[in-house]
Amino acid sequence: MPSAPTPFPVDPTALAKAYGLRIEMFTLTGVNGILVNDAGTWTIGVSNRLPITRRRFTIAHEVAHYELHRNLQQVFRCGPGPASRLEREANKRAAEILMPEEFVVPWVLSLKPSKDVARHFGVSEMAWERRMLQLCRDTDLGHDLEEALAEQLHKSSIVAPTAATSTEPALRIQVSRKRGRRVVYTYL
Ligand SMILES: [Zn+2]
Repeated sequence: MPSAPTPFPVDPTALAKAYGLRIEMFTLTGVNGILVNDAGTWTIGVSNRLPITRRRFTIAHEVAHYELHRNLQQVFRCGPGPASRLEREANKRAAEILMPEEFVVPWVLSLKPSKDVARHFGVSEMAWERRMLQLCRDTDLGHDLEEALAEQLHKSSIVAPTAATSTEPALRIQVSRKRGRRVVYTYL
């Protein structure tokens, strides 16, 4: 399996080419992307109506189908609508390709605004927030983020009022708890 290249943003097109996949743009509506095996040649089709961040995610999503599911189906049609198990798996893997865990963690703990982090990784803010929440659920990241947040708030509370204005974090974070240990962080 080719490793995702750095620096960021990751180029999913390069990864597709490393697998020998062709990429074509198309104008169909109702479908974001397709992956088709034609006599051993796998081709990714991407809708040219998508914004660049979603186009990048779609290419990564189709690469994920190739990695995970190419022995199960010959044609994948991927669009909006209810997500099947294969679609969910491809979305999760696409997020890992574009936002590898080891590179994501420092950005989460930096408490930077979502839009800055999303721009760094070349993804939509929604894709970034889903990735962060998934890591908070599946790893210790939620706990580490909670500590970083507590430290940030502690620092903010002990500086002088005049300094507090200039050093005030550029974001506010809303913390809510759901289902026991699950912690949801929303950058406002
Ligand atoms: Zn799909």
